[in-house]
Amino acid sequence: GATIGILGGGQLGRMLAVAAARLGLKTHIFEPGTNVPAGDVAHQMTTASYDDAAALRAFGEAVDIITYEFENIPTSALDILEALAPIHPGRNALATSQDRLTEKTFLQDLGLQTAPFADVTSMADLDAAIAQIGTPAILKTRRMGYDGKGQARIMAPGEAGAAFDAMAGAPAILEGFVDFSHEVSVIGARSPEGAVACYDPGENVHSDGILRTTTVPAKLSPSQRTDAVLIAAKILNALDYVGVLGVELFVTPQALIVNEIAPRVHNSGHWTQNGCTICQFEQHIRAVAGWPLGDGARHADVVMENLIGDDMDRVPALAKSGAAIHLYGKAEVKPGRKMGHVNRVIKAVGT
Ligand code: ATP
Ligand code: MG
Ligand code: MG
Repeated sequence: GATIGILGGGQLGRMLAVAAARLGLKTHIFEPGTNVPAGDVAHQMTTASYDDAAALRAFGEAVDIITYEFENIPTSALDILEALAPIHPGRNALATSQDRLTEKTFLQDLGLQTAPFADVTSMADLDAAIAQIGTPAILKTRRMGYDGKGQARIMAPGEAGAAFDAMAGAPAILEGFVDFSHEVSVIGARSPEGAVACYDPGENVHSDGILRTTTVPAKLSPSQRTDAVLIAAKILNALDYVGVLGVELFVTPQALIVNEIAPRVHNSGHWTQNGCTICQFEQHIRAVAGWPLGDGARHADVVMENLIGDDMDRVPALAKSGAAIHLYGKAEVKPGRKMGHVNRVIKAVGT
């Protein structure tokens, strides 16, 4: 069978490698860090920096298909790899989602709604953006942010200076604060032939910028649910996408507002491991390996809870609770670090 190269050896890479193994496929992880979650389960591992052209070339030559678990892969590395093996999802999906300004512009050009936004590279830009968008607002670095890192809230114009300083000179965007009732996400997949399958939207609760829980079904009207899936499909088709994509949405009475997209399997899709026949990880491997997509039908109501930092202390009790436990094998517990998750199956659909 084919060997799938995965850039990134974190928990998403680990769960992709497990899914690939179940399909009889081999995986080869490329990851700069040592002692990483995917290392235990991948067939092969290259530990090297993204600056190491020789290591990248050897990796690219050893694999048949390349995919990734995170979107911040350096362009120089992609230039080397794309000559050696197909990269799925493609580079346009990466380029679009690596930069919040490019991403929001792409979404608006598709006719989708986003928070109002403005490019901010100087304090003068920020003052002008606040005059235009108002407060409250959020200043976010354009690149590299995750789990709410690289963001500063501006509740009143007087807080602009401190927020600008917090960006430490990195290019940023100012986003108007969306007054949403709740957050949902759609995990969708597209095959090379253009087939699209989306999972039922999940409802997401964050605290301190980190996802805490995802619940399916989400609180959505039938028309909102359809709208959410159509938004995801529109994005998948516009990017000529291959693989699984996460789309984060804010729910307001007027419309669904797109927050951001992630060109990969997504934390808010972990519930599919115990709520669907084909989970998001298998679905992604199927798509990138050119297999038919599985359908996204949900057979159960599920609550996914992330285990963050000291939540690991609850594992013995959780193990007795009937919840499905997924641990990432991380060497060290740290505050704010995602250590695992549990899926509680609440009841079967239709019962
Ligand atoms: P992720 O880990 O999901 O990639 P991130 O660091 O990219 O997170 P965002 O998704 O942009 O960050 O923001 C994190 C959370 O902050 C959102 O899920 C939402 O709760 C809140 N948030 C972000 N932008 C806005 C906004 N414009 N209006 C209101 N709330 C927002
Ligand atoms: Mg993000
Ligand atoms: Mg987000």
